[in-house]
Amino acid sequence: MSVVSIVKLQNEDVEEAVRKAVSLTGGFETLAWEGATVLIKPNTVLPAKTGTGIVTDVRLVEAVTKLALEKNPGKVIIGEGSSVGYDFRETWDSMRCMEVAGVTEVAKRLGVAVVDLNRDEQVEVNVPDAFVMERFAIARTALEADVIICLPVIKTHIRTGITCGLKNMKGILPGNEKKRTHKLGLDQGIVDLNRVAKPTFTIVDGIVGVQGAWGSKAEAIDTVPMDVVFAGSDVVAVDAVCAAAAGFDVGEILHVQLAAEAGLGVCDLDLIQVRGERIKDVRRPFIPFLEAAKDLFGGATVIEKDSCTGCMGESVSTFIYLNKAGFQEKLPHLTFIMGTPEEIPPLKERPVVLGRCAKEYRDQGIFVPGCPPHGLKITDAVCQALEIDQDIVHRAITELHSFSADE
Ligand code: SF4
Repeated sequence: MSVVSIVKLQNEDVEEAVRKAVSLTGGFETLAWEGATVLIKPNTVLPAKTGTGIVTDVRLVEAVTKLALEKNPGKVIIGEGSSVGYDFRETWDSMRCMEVAGVTEVAKRLGVAVVDLNRDEQVEVNVPDAFVMERFAIARTALEADVIICLPVIKTHIRTGITCGLKNMKGILPGNEKKRTHKLGLDQGIVDLNRVAKPTFTIVDGIVGVQGAWGSKAEAIDTVPMDVVFAGSDVVAVDAVCAAAAGFDVGEILHVQLAAEAGLGVCDLDLIQVRGERIKDVRRPFIPFLEAAKDLFGGATVIEKDSCTGCMGESVSTFIYLNKAGFQEKLPHLTFIMGTPEEIPPLKERPVVLGRCAKEYRDQGIFVPGCPPHGLKITDAVCQALEIDQDIVHRAITELHSFSADE
């Protein structure tokens, strides 16, 4: 039986909650620390500040790093590889994301290294029983780590329902491999990745999560305060418990189900011993991404196949802008094409074709190049397609409170 602990924060003391959560699962004692290289993998997938629910709370990163250092391992490294839309050398890359999230400062203070896993040396791995990724590259730091401590935060996700421990490991894939998981099957790709780099221990920031169709602008960030920490050595069990605590039916979270099927852990709640708080006492139902997006999309059509969160996420910004600018009534006339759809049905109106993946359809509408295409360029193309005054939309964008590192 797998064990997952749930601990409520008392007086906002994250370190105490982390220590208790780890201890309730039996502690770190069973891990082989002597001379070990320990990789601590937070979620700083975007340049967002701690406490926003988008990135792992830095207090949790600090508490876990201290706990690891107390075990006197050979080396402790904090590593992340930011997402496709935030992997631009010397601008918005992993190092900048970790800096904005406060991770760099913590690492410096505690004397541990910070590694950009997107720029790390890449090593090809073979996965004989793979669902979809039989061979792929991962960061050498992750492959060679003796102990991987995964520190996700609970968020809704457009494709996978939730993102938690299993999906957090995507940060060890270089950008091109991250994209490949979307093309080959994201849920299956996440499982194949975890077959070669499964976290040794997972400690979840359930302090503040994010629900709904969160995008790139502050108005879309809908936080869910839960004030809890989850922990366990079985990442599948931890994800199953977190999904249930976030109000999801674990049976509908495909990558968690597939991970259990692949023998990576247990997802049946009846086979998981929960210690500390009960799931029902901490449950805070999250609004699923797609449910929230329905309102935002306002009747627009999206024709897509295997598009990734790059195009999806950038297009969400456009919906936020148009809603803000008061053009909701135009949305039913909008069609997006993204990813690699096999065919395009006859369309009454000119579609907006997004991104490199969909470039074979570029002549069928207004094409916005890029990978991902820029949200503002998408918005301008949509204004053209819907014959909307671009200046009005630009004024609305200016009015929107910018969600940036400078806030
Ligand atoms: S073009 Fe869009 S869907 Fe294709 S990989 Fe890039 S961001 Fe993802």
